[in-house]
Amino acid sequence: MAVTRDECQALDAEDPLKDFREEFSLPPGVIYLLGNSLGALPRRTPERVAHTVETEWGVHLGASWNSAGWWDLPQTTGDRIAPLIGARPGDVLAGDSTSVNIFKAVTAALPLRPGRRVIVSDLDNFPTDRYVVEGAARALGPYEIRDIGSAPGANGGTLEAALGDDVALVLLSHVDYRTGAMRDMAAVTAQVHAAGALMIWDLCHSAGVVPVEMGEVDLAVGCTYKYLNGGPGAPAYIYVAPRHQEAVHNVVSGWHGHAAPFAFEPSYRPAPGVRRFAVGSPPVLSYAALGASLDIWERVDMAAVRAKSVALTSLFIELTDELCPDLALVTPRDPAGRGSQVSYRHADGYPVVRALADRGVVGDYREPEIIRFGFAPLYLRHVDVYDAATTLAEVLGKELWRDERYSRRLAVT
Ligand SMILES: *Cc1c(COP(=O)(O)O)cnc(C)c1O
Repeated sequence: MAVTRDECQALDAEDPLKDFREEFSLPPGVIYLLGNSLGALPRRTPERVAHTVETEWGVHLGASWNSAGWWDLPQTTGDRIAPLIGARPGDVLAGDSTSVNIFKAVTAALPLRPGRRVIVSDLDNFPTDRYVVEGAARALGPYEIRDIGSAPGANGGTLEAALGDDVALVLLSHVDYRTGAMRDMAAVTAQVHAAGALMIWDLCHSAGVVPVEMGEVDLAVGCTYKYLNGGPGAPAYIYVAPRHQEAVHNVVSGWHGHAAPFAFEPSYRPAPGVRRFAVGSPPVLSYAALGASLDIWERVDMAAVRAKSVALTSLFIELTDELCPDLALVTPRDPAGRGSQVSYRHADGYPVVRALADRGVVGDYREPEIIRFGFAPLYLRHVDVYDAATTLAEVLGKELWRDERYSRRLAVT
């Protein structure tokens, strides 16, 4: 074996991030490799949410819009997310879902490039990104959607081939949700700018696991319930480069983004800066849960997170190469080319994932035929990676996945 279980335990003892595991509440006997889908529960989240419910809501009632800072949560939370995505406080607003923020970002950006009628999108991206581009194109159109990627409709199109003087904007994910492949954000942004188009990045699979720099990026969006541990349905965020903030408009021009919401004026005037991307009343309880996880993230060194993420994903790849030689890796082997996820193609991927979950190793399945394992460096140990790889080898080697219980599809795969 490349390494022994004892050697993994020795690596864990020297791990500079090892104490963060204590900050999370993990069910016993579970190796949770799904932090790329729903991050684990921070230990302090329940008491924080209880405080917001019992004291802020229960005792102070509506006064909490001022006294507990509820009104400003989209901005104050955005300020706390900003350093995690290499942005400055004031340039990020937390709220709504990623899907809604994509709509706001795309419809805000398109009018900045009048006369250009093409949106470049990636058919390999998480489908909601493409679906929302369709909706935005319909709402503001006519716009042509030019697809890149490996999926059939894209005809193998590359970004280079798709760019031209008719392209208004490009929307891509930094880290691919299926394969874990990572793009060079700065280089792609420069390439898109050279063609005169705007660049919008989706950071859903980057924030909290890969250091990100906004640099020349125009707009960005992402969620907080994956590696950032904000909880199911936690507020997403939108970044707008300072140079665009006074020029862009939020098509969902709600009262929370108004310049003077309590003047109750007859028509809309945008608030200065990113605040204009606020829409309506924020889900305060979800911000409370996210706030508890951001307390942890405030103390985290992203370079250490990236180093451990590379170590864990490399270890898993090495072990599965050795123990499961027939398994087809779809994630780039070069650590510089991947995020914090390792994926394989397996024709019976779904029952394999179910058989693993039955043995305490939680990953997930994505069409077509992809088994995904996400590695969240704050609460996973090298020994967990070792145990997950040996369990996977057993499930495959003994064909334990063939048990017919594992073939029945649940609604959420
Ligand atoms: C997780 C994810 C989303 C999720 O969008 P929601 O609106 O939160 O459901 C969107 N895009 C990408 C690339 C994702 O990975």
